[in-house]
Amino acid sequence: MPEIRTVGVCGAGLMGNGIAQTCAAAGFNVALMEVADAPLAKGMASIAKSLDKFVEKGKLTQADRDATFGRITATTDIKNLKDCDLVIEAIVENVEIKTELFKRLDDLLATHAIVCTNTSSLCVIELAAKTKRPDKVAGLHFFNPVPLMKLVEVVKTIATSQETIDKLFAFGRKLGKEPILTPDTPGFVVNRLLIPYLLYAIRVYEQGLASKEDIDKGMKLGCGYPMGPLELLDYVGLDTTYFIANIMFDEFKDPIMAAPPLLKRMVLAGHYGRKSGKGFYDYA
Ligand code: NAD
Repeated sequence: MPEIRTVGVCGAGLMGNGIAQTCAAAGFNVALMEVADAPLAKGMASIAKSLDKFVEKGKLTQADRDATFGRITATTDIKNLKDCDLVIEAIVENVEIKTELFKRLDDLLATHAIVCTNTSSLCVIELAAKTKRPDKVAGLHFFNPVPLMKLVEVVKTIATSQETIDKLFAFGRKLGKEPILTPDTPGFVVNRLLIPYLLYAIRVYEQGLASKEDIDKGMKLGCGYPMGPLELLDYVGLDTTYFIANIMFDEFKDPIMAAPPLLKRMVLAGHYGRKSGKGFYDYA
């Protein structure tokens, strides 16, 4: 399997633009692909803004900032990904749309190319099985904000080869990340632990054990966590948490993963957290 030199990233949203930036900062040439010009321009603007912040903080020189930005080619044509040795998919969390993209990538890419998904909750093997290269399909699960968070989960399906996993570990380290190996089960490792914790914090609040401020203060000051669970829920998005909890409960049937009634009601009300201006706290 040749070295990874050129990386394709599908989706220039929150995660995709962060992944593209991180790959370019590590010296890889990146082709960033979107469905339309508007989200592509928005993604490129986010990258420029993030790189400028690194320059302002003295963590990046202007020359390195320009070189990093210059390594990213923005495109709406999937054909521009054809020479990529690795493609990381970070599009909407929808299995039909992702499957369609995986089939197109499989037809387009050279046989040695690895295709990864950044999915948080879907079955990686379901996407891999739709390709003719299931041994070269894996999960590469980054954390938000990608340029800052040190972890990447490398997800091995029952069909992923050890050679692919080894390549992805080496690639993750080149990005300055610490990779960990995780199974292809909902939530992988981090969300398998984090989601039940967040759901339990909602139950504690729902049952009136403490105020939301005290719950958050308790976990920050008592456990040294940078954010309290209710603050973190607002940051992650209550809709996203509800979606992941439902998938995890569906798979494991473990009551600890069941969404508390309050979470469902907040999502129904559109109280998604920071993104909607209201969650456990007010952001108006
Ligand atoms: P997002 O909505 O911010 O971005 C998704 C982007 O994909 C949009 O810009 C959309 O236009 C684009 N897109 C849709 N279909 C496409 C296609 N066929 N080709 C190219 N682009 C397409 O979503 P996000 O938060 O960046 O999440 C992306 C993926 O990353 C999801 O699978 C999600 O589960 C996963 N993830 C998200 C987080 C997070 O904190 N948001 C963390 C880890 C993993």
